[in-house]
Amino acid sequence: MKPSNRIANILGDGSDGWEIFYRSRAMKAAGIDITELTIGEHDTRTDPTILDAMHASAKGGHTGYAMIPGIAPLREIVARRVQERTGVPTTSNNVLITAGGQAALFAAHLATCDEGSRALFIDPYYATYPGTIRAVGAIPTPIKTRAEDGFIPRAADIAAAAAGARSLLINTPNNPTGAIYARNTLTDIAQVCIDHNLWLISDEVYDTQIWNGPHISPRALPDMAQRTLVIGSMSKSFAMTGSRIGWIVGPEEMIKHLVNLSTHTNYGVAGFVQDAALFALQNASKLEEKIAAPFRRRRDLTLEICARYPAVRVLPADGAMYAMIDIRKTGLSGEDFANQLLDQEHIAVMPAESFGSAAAGHIRVAMTIPDDRYQRALETLCQFATKLAR
Ligand code: PMP
Repeated sequence: MKPSNRIANILGDGSDGWEIFYRSRAMKAAGIDITELTIGEHDTRTDPTILDAMHASAKGGHTGYAMIPGIAPLREIVARRVQERTGVPTTSNNVLITAGGQAALFAAHLATCDEGSRALFIDPYYATYPGTIRAVGAIPTPIKTRAEDGFIPRAADIAAAAAGARSLLINTPNNPTGAIYARNTLTDIAQVCIDHNLWLISDEVYDTQIWNGPHISPRALPDMAQRTLVIGSMSKSFAMTGSRIGWIVGPEEMIKHLVNLSTHTNYGVAGFVQDAALFALQNASKLEEKIAAPFRRRRDLTLEICARYPAVRVLPADGAMYAMIDIRKTGLSGEDFANQLLDQEHIAVMPAESFGSAAAGHIRVAMTIPDDRYQRALETLCQFATKLAR
């Protein structure tokens, strides 16, 4: 039987760019000691105090269907958190709890795009973006950025593609580049959204991993709250990737529609996971910094190590758990470099070509292993690049 075109086309050209990741996993399974700097997964697990809250909730009986928009106290604490950080009045009615940021990205595109609508996003991009857009039947339209701009988008490039488009997806702090968009960039982007009547979908799942800030949410910019959907997640900020919990913050009318969508898709998020998220957010001041600290240290290490090797150029890495490294002096593509590094040094990194065409000749390093191993791996990587560049 034939599947729908929509589902058969999620991957577009049939590749999600993660071949090197699967190859490194296969080598690992074959017993080879591979250093993985590939995925955005913490090297620590969810804090035991959060797990205790989850366990107590489940034992206490919160194992039935949970409230679909999210339990009231969780929606309230998310609203309060967003209001405190942005100054924009926000209530529970602006919040839908979702099964992670990815489900929120899907819901936001389904809510803003019709079949055949053009949905804009910035290249390089988080790997699921084009597939998410195709999954809702819309047409992914990448806006290329430039290495010399540090992959910060130019408003004129967005404007040039905006006529007739329905939405624009941005991500700051950014995966894969580690860039943070400054106020003037966001103001210019906001103006394009207003001029072309675009929804702005703002993926802010790394908003607690800020090394050189500040992080500005575009929802806080003038006239933007009514056209912005903010994607949030507990995955990165609280090392809760496996719990699958996040949110969308947006205009009340849109949240009502999104609640209908949630009723007809996942039917809410597990109550005990929501209670664990509530506990985590109630203790955010203690937990967030503890989880962010290793990445802050490794980001400093990255800048310091890369500065000693002229064969590589590291982007500023202002936020998130990744560093984008320019290896064009080696004469190799990111893909060839990553493949050779894996085969010869047993270090796995992501070729930036996996995240679109704009960052060809770069690699993305996930700073997600203990400091000493990370330092050794990065030195080896830089020496490898130096040999190739000669
Ligand atoms: N957005 C970005 C930019 C990401 O990097 C990720 C996860 N790597 C997500 C969204 C989705 O995260 P989750 O579904 O775990 O919240």
